Amino acid sequence: SLGQNVIVIVPGANLLLNFEDLKRASDVIRKAKVVVCQLEITPAVSLEALKMARASGAKTLFNPAPALADLDPQFYTHSDIFCCNETEAEILTGIPVGNLEDAEKVGHMLLERGCKLVIVTLGAEGCMMISVEEPIPKHVPAGKVRAVDTTGAGDSFVGALAFYLAYYPKLPMEEMIRKSNCVASVSVQASGTQSSYPYRKDLPRDLF
Ligand code: ADP
Repeated sequence: SLGQNVIVIVPGANLLLNFEDLKRASDVIRKAKVVVCQLEITPAVSLEALKMARASGAKTLFNPAPALADLDPQFYTHSDIFCCNETEAEILTGIPVGNLEDAEKVGHMLLERGCKLVIVTLGAEGCMMISVEEPIPKHVPAGKVRAVDTTGAGDSFVGALAFYLAYYPKLPMEEMIRKSNCVASVSVQASGTQSSYPYRKDLPRDLF
């Protein structure tokens, strides 16, 4: 239906990325403020990257995409921010997410598994956030826009969030999420995935 997407994944070269490559990147990882991982490379390699990031004090942002039902539980304990969409939330917890209340249940469950902060993205509805420090779930709505192609919205959101964590680490998390919703909602108004991502110059000034 309109606004829903279908994605075919051809991992190809991604699965060739290995522990040796990680070792070669260790200087970069050690200097990073934020390390983003997901599951488009071998999960064990992603997990090792999260561990390296943690060990050097980087913030870890993990997006369990594409979702795995039997995700290694260490992904939860090594994620400062665990950010999933509704489909991923369901695969990980067994809870179908159709509304904010369901997302809140998922949030509580993922905190119990060891995440520090959980974000469930809810498409046009924005996000739900919950954290160990603020265990009362919050809804961070997205602006109303005319969506033409939502493929890549999640990656746009995660990329924007990583930017705010690195460049504006003192912003309250709710504000970072509000701004990231805003960036992602721009991307759904253009077609394509990478091609739908806005340049900084095309974004409202108040996002920076
Ligand atoms: P995914 O692309 O992983 O399925 P979502 O559909 O949850 O992820 O979208 C990620 C984010 O993109 C949302 O949290 C929101 O900020 C933005 N977004 C997605 N769809 C819309 C929409 N129709 N209107 C406004 N923002 C949207």
